[in-house]
Order: sequence, then C-alpha cells, then structure tokens
Amino acid sequence: MNRTAILKCASYDLDIVKSTLEEIIANTEFPDVEGKSVLVKPNILSDSSPEKAITTHPAVIEALVMILKERKASRILVGDSPGMQTGHLNPKASGIADVVKRTGAELADFMTSTRIHQIGKLRIPMTAVLDDADVVISAAKFKTHQLMYSTGVIKNLFGTVPGLNKSPLHLKARKPEEFATLILSIFHEAHVDYALLDSIIGMEGPGPSNGRPRNIGLLIGGANPYAIDKAEATIMGYDTVPIIRKAEELMPGCTATEFPFLKPEDLTIRDFKKIESGITVKSLFISNLISKIGFGKDRRHYPEFQHDICRKCRKCINVCPAKALTLSNDKVTIDKNKCIRCYCCHEMCPFDAIKVK
Ligand code: SF4
Ligand code: SF4
Repeated sequence: MNRTAILKCASYDLDIVKSTLEEIIANTEFPDVEGKSVLVKPNILSDSSPEKAITTHPAVIEALVMILKERKASRILVGDSPGMQTGHLNPKASGIADVVKRTGAELADFMTSTRIHQIGKLRIPMTAVLDDADVVISAAKFKTHQLMYSTGVIKNLFGTVPGLNKSPLHLKARKPEEFATLILSIFHEAHVDYALLDSIIGMEGPGPSNGRPRNIGLLIGGANPYAIDKAEATIMGYDTVPIIRKAEELMPGCTATEFPFLKPEDLTIRDFKKIESGITVKSLFISNLISKIGFGKDRRHYPEFQHDICRKCRKCINVCPAKALTLSNDKVTIDKNKCIRCYCCHEMCPFDAIKVK
C-alpha cells in the first residue's frame, strides 16, 4: 500500500520547510531522480505575491529543488502556464523566478512547443516540456475552486495546456462532471510521479484566486495524487469533490493509501469557508441526470460583476470561452444565454470584481 504523509509545518522558513519535506519524502514512495530530468510543476495561476496564497510558496519550490539536487537529478525544470499567458513566463512576484535563478534550476517555457494529445474526441495541446522530463512532480497549493470546489495536485496539471488553449476546453466540458473527467484525462496524460500540496497557508472562500489566505499549517506529499486531493477535500470539510468522485467512479480504489503520520479525518477545519455553490455534490449528480433526460434546471449561479470595483482591464472578456462578455456603456456586460458558468472570468479577475453567489 502506498503512503501519504501529512505533517505539521508552521512556517515558510526554508530550513523548516526543507526538513519537513525530507521527512515526507523519506516516508513515501519518492521516485529515483539520480541522472534524470525532473519537471516541477508549481501552481502559478497569476504571478502574485506569496502572501496572497494563490501560488505555491517559493520556499516549498526551493526546498524541493535543493533536495532534487542533493539526489543528483541531472536537470531540474520549473514551469507552469497560467490561463492568460501569452508570452514567456517570468514569475517574479511569486518569487519562483528568483528561486529558479538562485538554485540553478531552469525556467521551463510551456508556450514554446506543444504536442497534441488525443483524449477521446478531443485534441488537446500540452507542453512538449512533458516529453523531455523523466520525472514529473506536481507541487500545488491548498485552495478552493469555484467550479471544482477544491484545486489540488490533480487540477494543477491543467497548466500543462498552455495559456488560452485552455479556454475552448471549457466549451467542450461544460458541466462540472464533464470538466472533472477532462481534468483527470489531462492529468493522466502528464504522467505525474509524485505530488506535494503546499498547505502551510492555503486559501478559503472564493478561490482559486480571489479567496482569503487561511493558516492550515500542513505539508502533504506522496505518490498517490488521488489520496492527496481526497485528504485536502476532507480537511476543507467536503464529503467529496467532483474530481475525486469521478476518479473513484472511473478507478475504484484509487484513493486508497496509508497515512503514517496525521490522518485527514482528524484535521477537518470546522469553520473552513468552502465554496457556496447553487448545488451540492450530491444534487449535482441528480441535476446531471435530470438534464440528461431533458428537464430540470442547473442551479449554478451566474457571475456577477461589481462595476464599482471593475477596472475594465478586459481580462475576463479575453478569457471567456463562450464570448459571453462585452464592454458596453463602459461596463462589463454578461449574456446569460451564452454563459456556460465555467467561472474562468472569476478566476482571472485581478481585482476581485466578480462574485459568484
Ligand atoms: S477582469 Fe475584473 S477588473 Fe478586469 S474587466 Fe473583468 S471584471 Fe473588470
Ligand atoms: S462569463 Fe464567465 S462564467 Fe460565463 S462563460 Fe464567460 S468566463 Fe465562463
């Protein structure tokens, strides 16, 4: 049986993070990296400061890179592709570019070259950097997510689909269940060997970019990503979340693991601010069933624009896969007949001007 290590980690002090990470690695199935090319995939959703808890903290990436070097990895690549990325990635504000420079790792540019992956009927461009890596490590952030309720080490691999190539995929997978299946397929194609969840300071409320930092005080790691994301959901207080429910349906037993240290059920945060959705996970299943047979109503909320906060930067308009947004009369206006409630606009708004409730 694989093992998933959940350890207390009270701060982002590099020595503390590194020693905690070493203990996690020593007690889980960490891959042999000697002489190998390793891709570390942090979450750099928007290149914002670590205090905002949107991105994987640079101390976690630095500690991981140091350990990979000690274990004689031949090449260490660090890369991501946020949703709005168009040019070369240089994540300065998040501190990750500095870590890369300081440690002698390489910043991997996911935009330079892609390879098409045929997933069912979908042709999905994913970064060719994946093909150069012998070992892939997902290093994600403990955060809520408006559509998937939580975002963890599995959803993190959506960033291997470069920049705005992600948007049309939302049109092909409109319902949460369909999107969860798509995310699992992309994750499967990325062949992740190991995963870490930076849960020292996580995010609660309207994540993944506009929630509030919340002290969780944990670092989680292991070779079973399904177990890690299930543990995250349990700590947040969910019975389940769409990606894990779909994973357990498609791969029964995939979340089975041993917890040699702390156990997620003992760590549930009773007052954690989960995503307030129009429907619960249980009723989501019923809702999907009803919509399949042709009646009933999907009660997910539409995004609401706070015009007094909006700075008219157009990021939401540019990312919207359904072309449901326009700037008219100096205001962002939504066409609800077009909106598929993917919440990409909410995720990309840098000024928290969009609410979903
Ligand atoms: S992304 Fe936010 S601030 Fe920018 S135009 Fe849209 S709502 Fe306004
Ligand atoms: S308006 Fe927002 S939620 Fe609706 S389709 Fe566009 S990006 Fe998605």
